[in-house]
Order: sequence, then structure tokens, then C-alpha cells
Amino acid sequence: MQIHAKHMLMGQNWVTDARISCDDGRISAIETGQPPAATDHRVDVLLPALANLHSHTFQRAMAGMTEVRVAGKESFWTWRDLMYRFLDHLTPDHYEAIAALVFMEMQEAGFASVGEFHYVHHQQGGTPYAQLSELSDRVFAAAHETGIGLTHLPVLYSYGGVNQEPLVGGQLRFSNDLARFQRLHEACTSGLRHMPADTQIGVAPHSLRATSPQDLAQLLQANQTGPVHIHISEQMQEVADVQAKLGARPVEWLLANADVDARWCLIHATHMTEAETVALAKSRAVAGLCPITESNLGDGIFNGTTYVENGGAFGFGSDSNVRISLTEELRTLEYSQRLRDQQRTLMVACAGSVGQFLFTGAARGGAQALGRAAGEIKLGNLADLVALDHSHPALFGLRPDQLLDGLCFAAGSDVVTDCWSAGRHVVRGGRHIKREAVVARYRSAITDLVSAL
Ligand code: ZN
Repeated sequence: MQIHAKHMLMGQNWVTDARISCDDGRISAIETGQPPAATDHRVDVLLPALANLHSHTFQRAMAGMTEVRVAGKESFWTWRDLMYRFLDHLTPDHYEAIAALVFMEMQEAGFASVGEFHYVHHQQGGTPYAQLSELSDRVFAAAHETGIGLTHLPVLYSYGGVNQEPLVGGQLRFSNDLARFQRLHEACTSGLRHMPADTQIGVAPHSLRATSPQDLAQLLQANQTGPVHIHISEQMQEVADVQAKLGARPVEWLLANADVDARWCLIHATHMTEAETVALAKSRAVAGLCPITESNLGDGIFNGTTYVENGGAFGFGSDSNVRISLTEELRTLEYSQRLRDQQRTLMVACAGSVGQFLFTGAARGGAQALGRAAGEIKLGNLADLVALDHSHPALFGLRPDQLLDGLCFAAGSDVVTDCWSAGRHVVRGGRHIKREAVVARYRSAITDLVSAL
């Protein structure tokens, strides 16, 4: 397969009349200053596609159902209540249908891959499925159908709080001790043989609330390769609980008690002191930012300016999937900093284009967090690529060096014309090639699910 782009981003540089060849899902040749050949797939603007580093696909089905204020109830917990009611009724077929829709929407938004932070493992009431990895297998099937690049992150979730409270109700579907988690992880690993070669597996201790320090240490001992993802410091209550129990704030405690390095992705990391922010930036771990979900849940504002000043790695995830929009994730992060500091152009180290800094940083950080050889258009990397329509009104008239600012601040997903996941060309003309079937199945699953609520 050959692609010809009028403008293409290589590293931080724009090149014109670029031709790239892909074999076995990887970039095998790059030429510049070349006219298109008759068989080339021609695009306006070609970029490395981002990884969506944090997703819980099933929550997509709750979008629009939790925006009602209930007198006297704290808002984050009303959202959690509905999530648990959903879990009383969610079947494997629903799970697969929702995941396929979410993966398709991600690819249409310009994400080539996803880190699925997967914590619903069992049947209602907590009984395991006959096949322990049943719901992970459904995630695999949805990834296979849509062609998205998957890094599957089975979650160890054992407790209902830092004091190791037992899980109850809907949470029983998440529950594993370490021994059963390892069996589940092995079942997922053996499922990889049915998947494309770019599929990866990691581990995800859910949070310092849902795992004990002892289990976390043993989990890391048992899984010494692949990505490690954890939710951390999302809400002030969590910070207070962890501080009371473990004697340190969550990020502070984790950095002191685990070998946090480039394998790690700390999801949210919203509430950090300046010292924690600098220490996380220096650790080489990726901060997994989810600005749309963090705004929706009222979590707080990430300390982005200090983090980028200190060279911190970052990427974006759509988390609750209430809205899947790469452009909105980028601008929501920057705007959160502007609103807090009453200044403009903040998420950029030293000087330069905010859009290009955010996009290229998230491309590198997202690929690192998912363990994918991607994040930049270069020889040998996976062909995770996204193409934009330069004639779209949101981008028309912009020079190449302004295009990512146009994408970040002015555009929506409809500027995306094509998306390739490890060379799989699944979005063409702005639409996923399986859109109709995937949407039809989603509608039927949701009709069934909502009628049961
Ligand atoms: Zn999450």
C-alpha cells in the first residue's frame, strides 16, 4: 500500500509531496518531493495517529443518562450509582456491541489504537464465566472487527476502599484476588494468538483504593514486562483516604513504593503538589490525561504547566467515552489551564505552537503508554496514520505549521478523512468501513439494555 500526502509531519518537521509505503502493517519506505503515482491513495495532510490510552468502553452506553442533579446527593456518586445499575444487566453480547461502536468512533476521530482498561470480568453477582476471560474475549472480538490496535489492560480490582473493604453489589463483577487475576491474565495472553500481531497485553492495578500495597508488589513481581496502568489522584477524597491510610499522597506514595518508569501510565494524576508533579515528570512515566471525562466528572485541573516545563510525558484517553473527540481532548486540556491561570498558550514547553506541542507529545506519549512502536512517522514504525482534509473550512488557508493549531482549537472530527491502524485502512472518506453494521448492532444492544434498567 502506498499513500501520497501533500503535507506530512515527520518528527516536528513538515514535508511536502510525501509518499510512504506500508508492508505488514509497518512503514517500509518514505520519499519526499515525489508526485503521486496512479495507484497511490492520495490525502491532503498525513499525521501519526494518536493512541487513545485510557478507555472503559461499556461506559459509552451511559452517555447522556447521568446529567441530572438529584437534590442532596453528591454528583460523582450519582454517576457511580447508574454505572452499577448498568452492571446488573450488561451481557457479553451488549459488551461486544458497545465496544465495537466505541472503537469505531475512536478511529473516526483519528485514534489508531486504544488501551482498554478492562475491569468488568464476571457475571452479575460475581460468578466467573465458564471461560474466565469471556468479557476480555469480547473486547478482542470488537477490536478485531473494527481493526483498531488494542493494548488490553486487564484490571486487578480487589477491594472497595483503602481500608480493604469487601466489594459489594455491582462491584462483584470486577472482583479478583491475585491468583485468579493471574489465571485471567494468562487466558487473555493465550487469546492473543487470534489477534493481529500489533495487539498487546499489560496489567492494570485499578487504583490504590482497590488494591493493597502487598498485592500491588506481587502483581508487579509477577508481570515484569508490558505496560502498567493505574488510576491515581483523580478525586480529592481519594487523596485524603490514601494519605490517611498510607501516610502519603497517592502519587507521592506510588513513586516511593514502586519502580515507576517508562512502562507506567498514571491515569488522571489530577491532584498533585508541585513536588509530585516534578517527580512524576522526571520518572519517564506517562500521565494519562482524560480532559473531557475529568471535566464531565468534575475531577479538577491537571497541573499541566509545571508538568510540561519539566519535560513530563503525556497522552490522552477518552475514559468514560461520554464523548469521543480527539480535538476536544486537546483543547479541553489547554483551556483548563487558561481558565485557571487567566493566560493563553500554556501547554507548550518554552515557545511554539500549542497544537503541535500537544499533538506530537500525545502521539509519542500515547504510543509509549500502549507499548506500540508508533507515535511518529518513521521507517519501521507501525502504520498508525490519520489524514486530514485541508480544504475543510476549519483548516482551509492554514500553513502546514498552523495546521495542528487549527486541529486543536477550530476543528471537529469531521476533518478526518482516513485512519489506518497498523496499516489497516478502516476509515475512508471520514467513515468507518463497517459503520452501518456496528451502529445497527449497538442500537439493538442498547434497546435491550435500557429496557432492563
Ligand atoms: Zn478510568
